[in-house]
Amino acid sequence: MNSQVSGSSTYRSLAQQQAVVSRQLDPASLPRFTQVCGASDMVSTELTFGLDDLGRTVVEGHVVTQVRLGCHRCEETVSRQVDATFTALIAFSEAQADNWDSVAPGTDVVVVSSPNVNVVELVEDELLLALPDRVCIDDDCPHMPSMDYGIDGKGIDKEAEPETDVDETRRYPFAGLKDAMEAGGEDKS
Ligand SMILES: [Zn+2]
Repeated sequence: MNSQVSGSSTYRSLAQQQAVVSRQLDPASLPRFTQVCGASDMVSTELTFGLDDLGRTVVEGHVVTQVRLGCHRCEETVSRQVDATFTALIAFSEAQADNWDSVAPGTDVVVVSSPNVNVVELVEDELLLALPDRVCIDDDCPHMPSMDYGIDGKGIDKEAEPETDVDETRRYPFAGLKDAMEAGGEDKS
């Protein structure tokens, strides 16, 4: 449990000092992140603390790492860079966060569990958000539907099915659509 900057650093004190905290996080200290991405290099984090006009603690963060994601379609492991920047207010309770959000909806707020700095707490959600939606880029994966709109929204649940038999229907999900378009549209032959 080495995730704290130091025993006595609080978000307030770092903000008042406008401190910049750089850490290399062992992926083992990011259990939710490593559960999703499987394998990762050390995670470089740089956090800049400060106070806003209202005296609230603000953190600007930059996280970078290299992950190896397993594609659930082709079972290849693909190396991808994760690089995220974020700016958030630090709230010390849900009530405080809700209050800020009611004044300025859409404000990015991280609710922390303790006044003491915990880098993992600040960056893990951001890392999860920064993971690519898709592992293989179109041509790399033989099982990737060829059109982008197959990935958006409703397609996700279906793609989460166990990858037992990948049949022709899965590989060419738009075959029917293409026929329909050709029947009703331009004749390309
Ligand atoms: Zn793939």
